[in-house]
Amino acid sequence: MTEAYPITDHTYDCVVVGAGGAGLRATFGMTKAGLKTACITKVFPTRSHTVAAQGGIGAALGNMDEDSWQWHMYDTVKGSDWLGDQDAIEYMCRNAPQAVYELEHFGVPFSRNEEGKIYQRPFGGHMKNFGEAPVPRACAAADRTGHAILHTLYQQSLRHDAEFFVEFIALDLIMDEDGECRGVIAWNLEDGSIHRFRAQTTVLASGGYGRAWFSCTSAHTCTGDGHGMVARAGLPLQDMEFVQFHPTGIYGAGVLITEGARGEGGYLTNSNGERFMERYAPTAKDLASRDVVSRAMTVEILEGRGVGDEQDHIMLHLEHLGADMLAERLPGISESAKVFAGVDVTRDPIPVIPTVHYNMGGIPTNIHGEVLRPTKDDPDAVCPGLMAIGEAACVSVHGANRLGTNSLLDIVVFGRAAALRARDTLKAGAEQKSLAKDSADKALDRFDKMRHANGELPTAKIRDDMQRTMQRDAAVFRDATVLADGKKKIDDIVGGLGEISINDRSMIWNSDLVEALELENLLACAQATVHSALNREESRGAHARDDFPERNDETWMKHTVAWLDDGNTVKLDYRPVHTWTLTDEVEYIEPKARVY
Ligand code: FAD
Repeated sequence: MTEAYPITDHTYDCVVVGAGGAGLRATFGMTKAGLKTACITKVFPTRSHTVAAQGGIGAALGNMDEDSWQWHMYDTVKGSDWLGDQDAIEYMCRNAPQAVYELEHFGVPFSRNEEGKIYQRPFGGHMKNFGEAPVPRACAAADRTGHAILHTLYQQSLRHDAEFFVEFIALDLIMDEDGECRGVIAWNLEDGSIHRFRAQTTVLASGGYGRAWFSCTSAHTCTGDGHGMVARAGLPLQDMEFVQFHPTGIYGAGVLITEGARGEGGYLTNSNGERFMERYAPTAKDLASRDVVSRAMTVEILEGRGVGDEQDHIMLHLEHLGADMLAERLPGISESAKVFAGVDVTRDPIPVIPTVHYNMGGIPTNIHGEVLRPTKDDPDAVCPGLMAIGEAACVSVHGANRLGTNSLLDIVVFGRAAALRARDTLKAGAEQKSLAKDSADKALDRFDKMRHANGELPTAKIRDDMQRTMQRDAAVFRDATVLADGKKKIDDIVGGLGEISINDRSMIWNSDLVEALELENLLACAQATVHSALNREESRGAHARDDFPERNDETWMKHTVAWLDDGNTVKLDYRPVHTWTLTDEVEYIEPKARVY
């Protein structure tokens, strides 16, 4: 029976779960609009995963070469392999320059070109004149752009007196009987207390779920908690089969070497010393879209042209760029290469391998950040009181494959959009219906059950099984056999979660319990991913099926929506890709073959 947990109650206009770039942009936007806003975060805001972003934020400023937001939009639609919603992509690319200037005015210390304007570097898939040649579009603060943005957004949040609940872990959403979200239940890790946050709007900005794989570039905190909460609330997850492998994770460590390194002139070679990308992408070469480069590297390795004793990786060369340039433009990755690969980048190449990096799928939303609960009659129906933004969300601007620099853009553009929506639809201090007496019961039952779990299997063992299964069966290349194997294994692991054992029953700083709760969220994500991937019988963007090598627009140009029910089954459905709210200034970009 569930222990009686004393609850501390709070009432806010808005509650934001997550203090990465998306959460902070929404938090201070809402606060600035006069809405009483709380930001809950399981790690200190400036330790959020956004801090690790390296290469830049995409915007067609045209500071280094001619550029236009329409070209940026075209590249993003093409990069998404036509699964991205073109109306949302238009909104993001059109607002990008303004978003970057806003960051500059907030205080982000961008690098500068010789004219003193914001420095921009080329990035994969960003081209001029509708795909003709690479264009420098990534606005960079050296190779520490995420660090600069996150710290600036945190300073802005403090300036606007946002209220922070740091090292509070959100457990579950409060859903009322009408299916409306009324807030969130959280656990304060520092003193062990339980908190109930009631709000007119709850915003999930809880990041991605890279940690479902064995090797990834994401922080240990990227455990899909928002996804898990949404799934348990009976809401769907969208396009979870689309998972980005970044071409250049450091071999053996998973740590990222930014695409900006290739943007500055770095290139890849195989064991013959060949610059093989020239064969796969004659125009963009090493700056082709990430899915294209990751697949090319994997083919080189599978065909025996990998480097090293095991012939299982590729080399990234920067040494020809010169020590001065590396120190000025790529200091962070020079250090990472030294620490994690023992390589001095001024002399030797870095061993790299495609590594899980980004989740294109997530919680479906419209361009205002409102979470969708699609029905047959209305694929755009929203769940009242709930928003999602950032990597946790699927707007969808990245479709089947995200272009580098478009995530930092996504988090600030849609963090701001959520704040604007809240400003326009909520009344500060409006009376909120009282919550049902049992509003916290479901969340606390789950919490209590996990806290007292008394099975045989440590969390680390179950997590390891999940991560190895995902690494093997939800990889760069997939087919029905491996995906069916992955689906069965993940379903079995989910089914066996009842066997988990928790050794520490305390309420304070109980990392054993935190990891178990996170594991449950990761497993929901893993399950939605493999089920959705097995069902999608085509190749599109990051989803590359050996048994269905072609894109099939007729049957599959649609979003997957996956519902997980309490019995741990996954129900799949589909909703259309949107195009109808494009403004008069752009036309629908017709699908065509995706070559670089
Ligand atoms: P995050 O920054 O992950 O923040 C999530 C927040 O949610 C955190 O504050 C966390 O504490 C909180 N949280 C999670 N669960 C809970 C819970 N249960 N309770 C309370 N709080 C919770 N993109 C680019 O565009 N350009 C780049 O150059 C770039 N470089 C990258 C480099 C690396 C190494 C990696 C891994 C990614 C990079 N990306 C880049 C991607 C980009 O950094 C991320 O997609 C983006 O920062 C995600 O931001 P976010 O605000 O959605 O989530």
